[in-house]
Amino acid sequence: SNGTTPAPLDASKLIYNLTKDPRPVPGEEVANASDQTICTDHMLTATWSASEGWGAPEIKPYGPLSLMPTASVLHYATECFEGLKAYRGYDGKLRVFRPDCNCARMHMSAGRISLPLFEPAELEKLIIALLGVDGPRWLPKNEPGRYLYIRPTLIGTQSQLGVQAPREALLYIIVTYMPRLDSPPGGMRLHTSPEDMVRAWVGGFGYAKVGANYGPSLAATSEARTRGYHQILWLYGKDGECTEAGASNFFVVWKRRDGKTELITAPLDDKLILDGVTRRSILELARERLSDELEVTERKYTIDEVIEADAEGRLVESFAAGTAYFVCPVSAIHHRGKDINIPMGPEGTPNVITSKIKTWVGDIMYGNVDHPWGVVI
Ligand code: PMP
Repeated sequence: SNGTTPAPLDASKLIYNLTKDPRPVPGEEVANASDQTICTDHMLTATWSASEGWGAPEIKPYGPLSLMPTASVLHYATECFEGLKAYRGYDGKLRVFRPDCNCARMHMSAGRISLPLFEPAELEKLIIALLGVDGPRWLPKNEPGRYLYIRPTLIGTQSQLGVQAPREALLYIIVTYMPRLDSPPGGMRLHTSPEDMVRAWVGGFGYAKVGANYGPSLAATSEARTRGYHQILWLYGKDGECTEAGASNFFVVWKRRDGKTELITAPLDDKLILDGVTRRSILELARERLSDELEVTERKYTIDEVIEADAEGRLVESFAAGTAYFVCPVSAIHHRGKDINIPMGPEGTPNVITSKIKTWVGDIMYGNVDHPWGVVI
């Protein structure tokens, strides 16, 4: 279409090409035992080219992609993605939690990695349309508390080697049937990042949800696992700023020297951390509902400050927060040969503030309370 403007992503052009033989929904045991991610019956795809813009999105049977070995994504990591869940509520309704935040973040990530842009609201409509097809059967009404995990993905597909912004791309959305991830019994045990490794740096892309952030973190995580820890607490800079825990944001509750209780987490300004939807929601709810008992702070803080608070008996609680593990209490942090132990609730349950926060956010996700963040499908 020479001379015309490239088409924007448009959910109203959605084509439905539904499967004729839907698969049986596996039980949770099957999902738990499988070393492959089980996806629902359908996926959504939309192609993009620099000249034509976005093609009509299509919902079609789940299946393999076809890419040339020279595709941009396979060489230059031109990929970004999102992760959000659809929750079967205790009121029988199906909800997604703040999908507008995920779609805005995907737009930001796409821009950071030279992938095509789109109206975030159109992506949101596509996610909801796909869940409208597979949600009802894969998340039975009589199984409240279950969820599906949705993975919107955008890749550069142009089959031309050479380091350049891809002129062809593919957006796809898959919906996965995940085993329920519970907090590790006894709490999450963190190991600080190796002295010679950083996850993100000023001027880098740690704030974007691009695949290139994750591959290079695997070695440190594997090493920590062999030492009996679950995730890496990523430190940054010569002072050892606490940034993120695995693929989650990281929070500490401590008493300051002035006696005030504080909920603290790393700030967004240096673009070192992901602007987590769970993080953002926790900060908003804590500011709204906990301001009598604590101060909510986003600022740089270091592992040495955590160690000092521990030594002075001022550590109150800690937790990691993200879509995958939700709100997960942290019971230990290993740093340079020493373990910091963090108070938990009785018998390894989350402590008081962690519990409150987990309940508040969970109640919105599962429809125990009505809240604009819980978007009914
Ligand atoms: N940090 C990183 C690096 C992540 O991958 C995630 C998961 N998306 C998070 C934090 C938590 O973000 P959210 O609450 O949006 O899942």
